[in-house]
Amino acid sequence: MTGVDHPGSVEPNGVIGILGGGQLGRMLAMAAAQLGLRTHIYCPDEFFPAADVAAATTNASYTDEKALAAFAASVDVITYEFENVPIETVAFLVSLDVCVRPGALALEMAQDRLVEKQFIGGLGAVTAPFHAVDDLAALDAGLIKVGRPAILKTRRLGYDGKGQTRLTEADIDLHGAFEKAIEFAWAEVGAAPSILEGFVPFEREISIIGARGAGGDIRLYDPTENIHANGILKTSSVPAAISEATAVKARSAAADILNALDYVGVVGVEFFVLPGGDVVINEFAPRVHNSGHWTLDGCAVSQFEQHIRAVAGWPLGDPSRHSDAIMENLIGDDIHAWRTIAGEKNACLHLYGKRDARPGRKMGHVTRLR
Ligand code: AMP
Repeated sequence: MTGVDHPGSVEPNGVIGILGGGQLGRMLAMAAAQLGLRTHIYCPDEFFPAADVAAATTNASYTDEKALAAFAASVDVITYEFENVPIETVAFLVSLDVCVRPGALALEMAQDRLVEKQFIGGLGAVTAPFHAVDDLAALDAGLIKVGRPAILKTRRLGYDGKGQTRLTEADIDLHGAFEKAIEFAWAEVGAAPSILEGFVPFEREISIIGARGAGGDIRLYDPTENIHANGILKTSSVPAAISEATAVKARSAAADILNALDYVGVVGVEFFVLPGGDVVINEFAPRVHNSGHWTLDGCAVSQFEQHIRAVAGWPLGDPSRHSDAIMENLIGDDIHAWRTIAGEKNACLHLYGKRDARPGRKMGHVTRLR
């Protein structure tokens, strides 16, 4: 169903393949349906939120080449909603001549915190001071380099504050000795290859959700101000309480990342804002991002529709904000307030269809328009 006049473009009724079937895949599938596109979701989990709203699903592992080949044959383009899809899976799909957007490079840069920080530094942007840690001796040396407090994070597979631990003066007091505290921290990250980051004394956290189309055009949403609790995003608000100069710095860094990766799709870039207004990049996610959920209700074209437009080779939509908004994640037991929230004025409720409200699990979100 690939368009002849617009090479690489998927016409209405075409099929978008999505690797990963969580809430991001679910909201991507709904946005695709609005544009008359179908989705085929590939997910290793037996039950997954995107299954309820997709035209087709495959439940198989990311290493099942037979299932991957059948999936590739059934779609016009492939994207992903999960940044830890194995690179080998994407390489295999590309070898079958199917287009994967964003490409493998974005995944490679985002899957390893050390590679990611080196890439960002190479663009001339600022990150937290960091040191690669492969053993206790390197952790010791890293603490001298980045100072205390510091955060030890696994290089791979960390998300929502998982796979990381802090090293503060209080921790050292708690363990009675510096050596004991660092041994404990090293055990906390499972003695896995990690990086030690200096603690950034930020005034606030913001993110930029940006998109780059197949022709290289870029559209950026307004900077979003984010508040985390226990390493998990709790609220995202627009407008962010930042100066125009800070917004310009963040936008320009996000555009640099998109261009450097020859990116096609939506990216989420997280920043720390320092007192004084300079920005430090925390990390980027090569996918639609939780801090962009407000765009579903605050913009004419949401991040989900924008991503589908980009990967389908369509013109990008208008990212401007028509309403001020605050998005609140409904985490674990928060979901039980759904009935009250559903009755609130100007509250846009989104539930993800997950059955068990486990602690820390993102069950839905509500965006309150202001
Ligand atoms: P991450 O999983 O790396 O995004 O970290 C989750 C949250 O922990 C961030 O949004 C910050 O609130 C906090 N955090 C992570 N790294 C740092 C750092 N180097 N300095 C200060 N706070 C941090």
